[in-house]
This record gives sequence, structure tokens and C-alpha cells, in this order.
Amino acid sequence: MVPQTDEERKAKKAARSRLYYAKHRDVILAKNRAYRDADPERERARCKAYRDANVEKERARHALYREENHEALLASGREYYEANKGSVNASHKAHYQDNTDDYRERHKRWHDAHADEQNEKAKLYYADNKERFAANGKRWRESNRASTRAIAARRRARELNSRGASFTTTEHIAGRWLMWGNRCWICGAPATASDHVIPLILGGTHWPANIRPSCTHCNCSKGSKPPIMIKVQ
Ligand SMILES: [Zn+2]
Repeated sequence: MVPQTDEERKAKKAARSRLYYAKHRDVILAKNRAYRDADPERERARCKAYRDANVEKERARHALYREENHEALLASGREYYEANKGSVNASHKAHYQDNTDDYRERHKRWHDAHADEQNEKAKLYYADNKERFAANGKRWRESNRASTRAIAARRRARELNSRGASFTTTEHIAGRWLMWGNRCWICGAPATASDHVIPLILGGTHWPANIRPSCTHCNCSKGSKPPIMIKVQ
């Protein structure tokens, strides 16, 4: 008999094992399964020990799996979500509530890092949807007339650096209107505009005290005259 090298002996043994495995595959698999099923606790510990000892390898294996099964994983994720919408949403919500600060921080970091491209995107989106934005804005202004007036008045007050400009809210102004019965403080007609009793342009403030409801006619004819010069018709 020709003497064998270690390599040859090893190769022969491996070939024999493969042959044996191929022949008895089902029996071996069943035996292995029975061994694992006999003691799930031991099996879990064994798997965990393996994972802990092979962190990098496992990570790479998972990444590869995800990459190779990207579409299928997406589809099964969607399917799972559709079937479990309620519990998935609830658990996301709970997680968000427990980690709100983290989420905000992460969101802010992301936003800061992508500010330029986000602004660019927003600009493009706006340009592509200009008419829709205009229509939405119009609809909102029409159903929120009081807020619209308050916002416009505040903007003007800010431009003129009027005191009270950043204090006075829509609610304050609504309160002033209510106090005057929602009627023009000069002629008593239904009010349509907020009037600055001492005009902003003459140094009047945007504090609630200087704001009263007025009708369009009085508001326009008063213009920037202080009240003492108004001639009531
Ligand atoms: Zn009036």
C-alpha cells in the first residue's frame, strides 16, 4: 500500500463523511432536530454563545441576507404591517413617546446636515405646486379671516418695529373685537378690519389696547390720522 500524506488522509476522510452524509441525510437531520428540540433552553444558550463569539461574522451574514432578499423583506414587512397595523402603530407611538428627545435630536441633526438640499427641494416643490399652494392658502384665509387679519396686522407692526408686535396674538385681537361687539368703534357698522387707534406709522403700538375693530370705510378714510382728527359722518 502506498504511504499517504496527512493531506491525502484528511481529504479521503472528508470525502467519506460527505458520502455518509449524502446517504443518511434525512436521518442525520432528524437526529439533530430531535437533539435541539429536546432542550430548547440549552439550544438558545448554544446559539447565543455562537453569536457572541462571531459578532462580526453574524453581522456580515445578516447584511448579506438583507441585501440578497431586499425586495422580499420589504414585501413581507409591508404584509406584516397591513395585518398588524394597529399594534405596529401603537408600539411605534409608545417608542416615540419614550424617546421623544432622542427623536427630536436626531431629526434636528439630520435636518442641519441636509439643510441646503432640503431648502432646494422645498423650493422646487413649491415651484411645481404654486397654484395648489395659492389655492390652499386662499381657502385657509377665507375660513380663518380673523387669524388672517391678525397675521397681516402683526406683520405690518413688525415691519414698523411697533411695540407689542411679538406679544399680541389672534386671541387678544378677538378679545378686543368682542369688547366692541364686533362692530366698528367709530360708526357701529359690522367690523371688517382691525384699526390701530393711534396709527402705527405715528408711533402707535400693537398692544391690544391700541387695537379696535372698524369697518372698511372708516378704516380707509381714517387712514393714518389719529382719532382726534376723524370727522364722523
Ligand atoms: Zn365705521
